[in-house]
Amino acid sequence: MPTGSLVEIARTPTTAAQPETIRVPEIEPGVGCNFDSYLLVPDTSLDTRIRAALDRLGSSVVILGHHYQRDEVIQFAHFRGDSLKLAQQAARTEARFIVFCGVHFMAESADILRQPHQQVILPDLNAGCSMADMATIDQVEACWDQLEALGGLNVVPVTYMNSSAAIKGFTGRQGGSVCTSSNAAAVLRWAFERGERVLFLPDEHLGRNTAYRMGIPLEQMIVWDPYQNLGGHSPGAIRQSRMILWKGYCSVHQRFLPEHVDRVRRQHPGIRVIVHPECRWEVVQKADRVGSTEQIAKTVSAAEAGTQWAVGTEIHLVNRLGKEFPDRTVISLDPNVCVCTTMFRIAPQHLLWALENLGQGRVVNRILVDEETKGGARLALERMLSLQ
Ligand code: SF4
Repeated sequence: MPTGSLVEIARTPTTAAQPETIRVPEIEPGVGCNFDSYLLVPDTSLDTRIRAALDRLGSSVVILGHHYQRDEVIQFAHFRGDSLKLAQQAARTEARFIVFCGVHFMAESADILRQPHQQVILPDLNAGCSMADMATIDQVEACWDQLEALGGLNVVPVTYMNSSAAIKGFTGRQGGSVCTSSNAAAVLRWAFERGERVLFLPDEHLGRNTAYRMGIPLEQMIVWDPYQNLGGHSPGAIRQSRMILWKGYCSVHQRFLPEHVDRVRRQHPGIRVIVHPECRWEVVQKADRVGSTEQIAKTVSAAEAGTQWAVGTEIHLVNRLGKEFPDRTVISLDPNVCVCTTMFRIAPQHLLWALENLGQGRVVNRILVDEETKGGARLALERMLSLQ
């Protein structure tokens, strides 16, 4: 039926026995720039329409799928991986449009690294990262002002890739660097060659786990609470610290507990436990291995048939590894599903909406980082990349 025609629907009045027929304009599911109409697109036609839109757009578009993305979406990705790798891969293509099926800070990173002719799209603007949101630029600047006011601290800021563009920009302007979960140790070594202590943003666990493996004792680490004066510490405690860990965490990796490691070892004798460094320090101490999403994927793919793995990271990656390597046992460390609920917000409907709008010449949900922020963020990223 064409758009704008009328359909008859039955409405049951509260008092009359017979239903009353009314006439309302029909909205063809998923046409135009209004996303809500895409919610009516039947699941059975989503894949076909996404493929058709991709065919029409050809090489003008590249789809990026983060490892934690749901299967119904990641199946359309031209590239899969972690956020830095994806942003770099997209910038090496000639595609005009980069559709990032990930979360907000990832799309910002792609916008920082993109070529001038490219535009970055996040299919759902509600796909944020709870960890990145735990460090706002106002909070971090207030922290920095307090540290400077103490005098003579010689602090180098290091921010995890999982932070907003504003925090990356701040870090670059203050002489610091970005790090990833793969290269955090190298970046911390670089930072300690330049300063006496590091302000590590925004994930306290990655900072603690990395510094501890480098030989810095826990007693020389403090956690900065942005809601307390001086982060909740005395000037003396701050002066004695070497790592100032921002009080932030990943709501997914935070859920893995030491007792999960004990239980999985009891239930699956011989199983190996591999966890992400965003997990708590107590969990990392009990694990056999610790590694980024890329390292986890590489470890399981290189493992021998018959080996058993309990993986402490987001459930979509764990399940995907289990499907890709059916001759290995791959299970989640937590029996209760650990989903990145914000990344899960990107549904096939959002992807279709973004692609069909592109097909009609409209760019929706563009992510654009301002030039000043980009300048600082690029400095912080370049310092990290120079170490590789
Ligand atoms: S898994 Fe954690 S750190 Fe990664 S995007 Fe989700 S909330 Fe953010």
